[in-house]
Amino acid sequence: MILIFRREVTEQEIQEVLRKIESLGYTPHLSRGTVKTICGVTGDDRAISQSEFDQLPGVESVLRVLKPYKLASREFHPDPTRIEVGGVGIGPGTFAVIAGPCSVESEEQVESIASLLGRLGLKLIRGGAFKPRSSPYSFQGMGEQGLQILHAAARRHGLTIVTEVLSEYDVDLVGRYAGVFQVGARNMQNFALLKALGETRTPVLLKRSMMGTIEEMLLSAEYVIKGGNPRVILCERGIRTFETEMRNTLDIGAVPVAKRLSHLPILVDPSHAMGDWHYVPAVSLAAIAAGADGLLVEIHPDPVHAKSDGKQSLNFTRFEELLARLRALAPHLDVEVR
Ligand code: PEP
Ligand code: MN
Repeated sequence: MILIFRREVTEQEIQEVLRKIESLGYTPHLSRGTVKTICGVTGDDRAISQSEFDQLPGVESVLRVLKPYKLASREFHPDPTRIEVGGVGIGPGTFAVIAGPCSVESEEQVESIASLLGRLGLKLIRGGAFKPRSSPYSFQGMGEQGLQILHAAARRHGLTIVTEVLSEYDVDLVGRYAGVFQVGARNMQNFALLKALGETRTPVLLKRSMMGTIEEMLLSAEYVIKGGNPRVILCERGIRTFETEMRNTLDIGAVPVAKRLSHLPILVDPSHAMGDWHYVPAVSLAAIAAGADGLLVEIHPDPVHAKSDGKQSLNFTRFEELLARLRALAPHLDVEVR
């Protein structure tokens, strides 16, 4: 349920309403917007009657939220959310480019990527140290040693780390290095992990699963926010369809849909969507044009010899070309590439 306050509501009236909500055993979520102040009410609200609230001083109207997710919804939070990560505000006005290898492989590999990002004025580096691989025989990542390699290179070049956490048992360890926890597609509905991340205050990059609906993605975001961590960034990375020419099918339409349904920022991952670097620039340009808040893109100094996802990784020259094209387009779309 959402309570909308009158424009001239006093602070005292607001506090009174918050107390009333709590006394009934529900949780209030106050949101002071640019135009109006509203208050979301969560809990099992089927039992509460609307009339209990619309009589309260200061309340203009009461709406029932029909969506199953509340805190992630636009209704609860009409203004788009901006999430600060390493000096980059992911949200309105910014197109954030998070680039790096699929997996951390060596100090030299990460150093070459980090120094490229630094030279290009980018602030966010991706790279997996704990890798979710379809086959147990594939490279599983370097683990904590990989995180240390990322950390050292990130420090040298003023970067913030975006890295995957596979399990709730690893949240503390990965959290010592990560500026953003990445939740992989295969873990979008790992509710134990989502709850553990809700207890942290580190931003969470939540990837849509290959068979997840937009609503399911927003419900997963709801787990993290409900747990107490409002810093959730969504990511569309392609879904599984009947098409076999591409690794996945990029659901570009999910970008405007998620932005209408939710206040959370949404990135596009063109690499896992397409599975082949040839297509990465085209869909990256589609992402900025569709209003995405940024990219999560795989790059590698020597893609042919990458330990994972080399086929879909851009080499440095191709990445620089893409970045130049994004920067050329950005002013026409009222965003800045960061
Ligand atoms: C990744 O970003 O490296 C990754 C494993 O992606 P996804 O979870 O989307 O498959
Ligand atoms: Mn990958």
